[in-house]
Amino acid sequence: MRRALRGRCAIIRGYTLCSSGKRSLNNHRSSHRDSLEAVASATAPIIVPRAEHPISRSAISPNALKVLYRLKDAGYQAFLVGGAVRDLLLGRQPKDFDIGTNAHPEQVKELFRNCRLIGRRFHLAHVRYGQEVLEVATFRAAHTLVDDDNSVDEDSRRVLDNHGRILRDNLYGSIDEDVWRRDFTANALYYNIHDFSIWDYTGGVADAKARVLKLIGDPETRYREDPVRMLRAVRFAAKLDFNIDTASARPIAKLAAMLDGVPAARLFDEVNKLFLAGSAVRSFELLREHALLEHLFPDLASVLATATNSIDERVVHLGLAGTDERIAADKSVTPAFLFAVLLWPAVRRQATQFAAMADSPIQAMQDAWDTIAMRAQKRVALPKRFSLTAREVVSLQPRFDNRSGRRSLRLLDHPRFRAAYDFMLLRAAAGEIEQAVADWWTEIQTASPEARIAMVESQPADKAKAEDGTSTTSPTKRRRRRRNRSKRSAPDA
Ligand code: ATP
Ligand code: MG
Repeated sequence: MRRALRGRCAIIRGYTLCSSGKRSLNNHRSSHRDSLEAVASATAPIIVPRAEHPISRSAISPNALKVLYRLKDAGYQAFLVGGAVRDLLLGRQPKDFDIGTNAHPEQVKELFRNCRLIGRRFHLAHVRYGQEVLEVATFRAAHTLVDDDNSVDEDSRRVLDNHGRILRDNLYGSIDEDVWRRDFTANALYYNIHDFSIWDYTGGVADAKARVLKLIGDPETRYREDPVRMLRAVRFAAKLDFNIDTASARPIAKLAAMLDGVPAARLFDEVNKLFLAGSAVRSFELLREHALLEHLFPDLASVLATATNSIDERVVHLGLAGTDERIAADKSVTPAFLFAVLLWPAVRRQATQFAAMADSPIQAMQDAWDTIAMRAQKRVALPKRFSLTAREVVSLQPRFDNRSGRRSLRLLDHPRFRAAYDFMLLRAAAGEIEQAVADWWTEIQTASPEARIAMVESQPADKAKAEDGTSTTSPTKRRRRRRNRSKRSAPDA
């Protein structure tokens, strides 16, 4: 350990051994010498033997066990790591089983025919068994190793920007270095396949028991290195029903704006994890509580800031609650619907502004979606395949206002009818449109063809607006539109 650190500067990880030999958190940067001592002395984990913890091999994926045993039999260290150990300890079913080892990626590859090396930043081995992919990561050194100018470590393998953010990291290490680069103590537990014990360097077992989410080391430094950790704090607190430790929560308000520098594609991944994993409602509450929402969805945050207990708030709440219910019932969820919900309050307002100028409510809605979505994309990049669907769901909404005339029935055959209908139900439940309208669309879906005709013909004719657009525009504008249309469709002169 000392050898590994020779000649380098260090930021202390926050753990030191007290003179009594017990470990304690100190949450400070310390001098170069102190840091080296602290890191060197923090190498002894608490080892929780099998008899003293509840993790049984029967709860571990058989393929993960296969990989662990093969690594062990080849003479390497092999541990289950990260979220899987935490979840098993809490009696939850892990989402996936990640493995940590001292074997280098090429050595892992030699052991498994079904192995692929991936990653440019971090070299990882993926071992595939049918649908299941097990990620095998070689232990990496902690980012205790930073030059005085805070930019590059001695051999340029760890690169930080001038805010302290990690840009590149590719440094193998031992397990007792690997642990310090992890985010929360509960995420830094290692289950050893050699004797089924848990290795705990950071007090993660006790924190998991106490349901506390605690960053390893100095919270501000850790958030600066990777601002996404602020979102991870919220995500784990919501998902695991943990409290964020006061010291870990405190710097978030000050550093929240650092999220603005995170690539929009990464934020899309994080937003999906926040909202499409079963605890969307709680995640949303915590994002608002910690003033993070305005850095993900600024338009939504500003609408909600002026409209507490409003229709907008209810639409979002009901949309997220519905997502959570679908996940609990093992039903599919899509980012398209989620983003339609999250952007709706701003789109709705924008559409009202555009209405006077647009040819039809549908046109106003599409223009509003384009305006708001383009702005939102700068923060959280929604891939096109989802944004096109979301745009359709949103721009079909005005067609639910039109229930008279046989043409209104065409909406039922639209490929996005189902999603648009679900979305309309949310708006009705939130009080944005009349429940009777929603009930009518519910009823018509199961009505016989004759009953459908009777339903549309019994609607007052004055509600029959333009077939495609339920127009609210002036007759002059409609005339102009028709003229333009005929111009567009005229054969080339
Ligand atoms: P989940 O059950 O949601 O997958 P997880 O804890 O497994 O939760 P992952 O994002 O899969 O989370 O990451 C696996 C592990 O890698 C984490 O438990 C943590 O130890 C470490 N890790 C992941 N992302 C970061 C990060 N941004 N900073 C520090 N450590 C991280
Ligand atoms: Mg995981």
